[in-house]
Amino acid sequence: MTLSIRWKVTLGSLLAVICGLAVVGLLILQSFEQQEILQLRNMLEARANLVAYGLRPLLPAPPSVSGRISFHTIVRDLGNSASARITLIGADGTVLADSAVAEADLAVIENHLSRPEIQQAQSSGQGTDIRASHTTGERTMYHAIVMPMAAGNPPVFLRLGLPMTMLDQETAKLQRNLGIALGAAFLMAVLLSVWMARNITKPLSDMASVARRLATGDSTIRIHTHSRDEVGLLGDTLNQMTDQLRAKIDELSEDRAQLLAVLTSMVEGVLVLDYRGHVLQVNPALERMFGVSRTEARGRPCAEVFRHRHLMDLVADILRTRTNHEDEIVLAPTGRCLHIEASVAGGEHENEACAVLVFHDITELRRLEKIRKDFVANVSHELRTPLTSIKGYVEALLDGGKDDPATAVDFLSIILKQSDRLNLILEDLLELSKIESGSVSFKEDPLDLSNLIDRTLSMIKPMADKKGHQLRSRISGDLPLIAGDEGRLVQVLTNLLDNAVKYTPEKGTITVAVQVLPDPSHAQAIELTVTDTGMGIPEQDRPRVFERFYRVDKARSRELGGTGLGLAIVKHIVEGHGGQVWVEGNQPHGSRFVVHLPIRSTRESRLI
Ligand code: ADP
Repeated sequence: MTLSIRWKVTLGSLLAVICGLAVVGLLILQSFEQQEILQLRNMLEARANLVAYGLRPLLPAPPSVSGRISFHTIVRDLGNSASARITLIGADGTVLADSAVAEADLAVIENHLSRPEIQQAQSSGQGTDIRASHTTGERTMYHAIVMPMAAGNPPVFLRLGLPMTMLDQETAKLQRNLGIALGAAFLMAVLLSVWMARNITKPLSDMASVARRLATGDSTIRIHTHSRDEVGLLGDTLNQMTDQLRAKIDELSEDRAQLLAVLTSMVEGVLVLDYRGHVLQVNPALERMFGVSRTEARGRPCAEVFRHRHLMDLVADILRTRTNHEDEIVLAPTGRCLHIEASVAGGEHENEACAVLVFHDITELRRLEKIRKDFVANVSHELRTPLTSIKGYVEALLDGGKDDPATAVDFLSIILKQSDRLNLILEDLLELSKIESGSVSFKEDPLDLSNLIDRTLSMIKPMADKKGHQLRSRISGDLPLIAGDEGRLVQVLTNLLDNAVKYTPEKGTITVAVQVLPDPSHAQAIELTVTDTGMGIPEQDRPRVFERFYRVDKARSRELGGTGLGLAIVKHIVEGHGGQVWVEGNQPHGSRFVVHLPIRSTRESRLI
């Protein structure tokens, strides 16, 4: 069991008080007894001298045995007067007379020569001793002196004995009083110790409880002490420490919050590793990139968390060489491409940042790069084909073809056709680049779609008639006006109908349908579809036909005068109107192009 500091102080001070009181009591008792004994001795000495003085004329020589009787009576009377026991002892130790012993018993009293006071008196003239009397049994103080006898006679020892009953009674009384006084002092000391211990230890126990609350994170707590002693100083110091601690914690919390905010808002993934390659930090962007969770990743080896061979080789290299690295990795199965910049932070212990890896998702960049490269290649190819043809026919004309009028006309018409095609490609490219660059603004005029459809169908009709196609329009109910650019939407419908006519074998059916979408969530959209009964588009090519120069059948497209840019233009215009376009298969064969356009009331023109 551990004692509290209050009890330790209380018990310690009480122990000191008990020891002090005991020593004081003993000293008082001792000095009292010494004092009393000294007084008694002086008194005995004085009485012995007086008795000797009284006895001397009666006792010129030691009393003979016959003279003892009358002598014994004198001694007894003297003893009564002196209130002490008087013993006369011969030089050989024989008791000659004793006031406390009956005459008849004198003969049986033992020899007194060996008594300490007689021994002292023999050597120095007088002697004192305190002991229990053999004769009376009481504690008695003896004082003996030598009484010289007339010439030639051996001296006689006169001894006075005084019982110490009085002294013992006085001592007992003193002990009792001292006991009461010391007991009272002890009680006072107990009260004082408890009070003092409480006063001294209260601020300390307050501090202990404050320290406990501090440890639980309550940094607002304060210690209140009014004393200016060491305890007060300790309290002030603790308060200062608490303030400093709180300031430091606040500062660290702010830094941490800022760091977390930066890490969380970063588009780049961030991975922090210690020198063993264990994960210390992962930001949300990296969580998304690798599909890992921060709580599961932290503290685990990087290889276990990410399971990407190329990344692990890179991490191993960084940790081994302690140099900055740059690399690219591809994630399976998404195919996302990540550029990694790894820098060495230098931590050499567990949980210290040793390497920081920043992951940039460059998938889109790579895609755009590829599109650009493909585009350049496609444009070159598309332009080269008619140019090669023109060059070939011009050379053939120069080589003699011009001399035959019929051949010359044929060649020249081919050259004209190829030039038109070149022109068409360049016009489409220009158009597309204008829309893509955002320099074209789409008007937002209120448009009546049924009217627009009728006009476009009548424009296409001669072409469709040539192939014996049947053109149909299905307009369901009253259509609301939509906000859009009439010229551009006509271009969309023309391109779709032109393709339908081109890619549908003769005597096909081409249907234009329009309706307000029934689904409540799409109530504000209009669906326009162009359906044909032609060759259709294989499912895997459908998402790609809206890319520039993408054709399902290149030769056929060229033969039919396609540039490969029509659907790309359609897509841009539709998206510029806030809509969507895609292609589906038509049953039993053919294609179905679907355009969704939002119904907007605004008249303002919008830049795309
Ligand atoms: P093109 O000028 O070659 O027609 P587009 O961008 O208009 O270029 O069309 C891209 C490709 O999509 C075409 O080459 C063709 O292979 C395919 N395509 C477009 N419309 C249809 C359709 N109605 N039926 C079948 N294939 C089509």
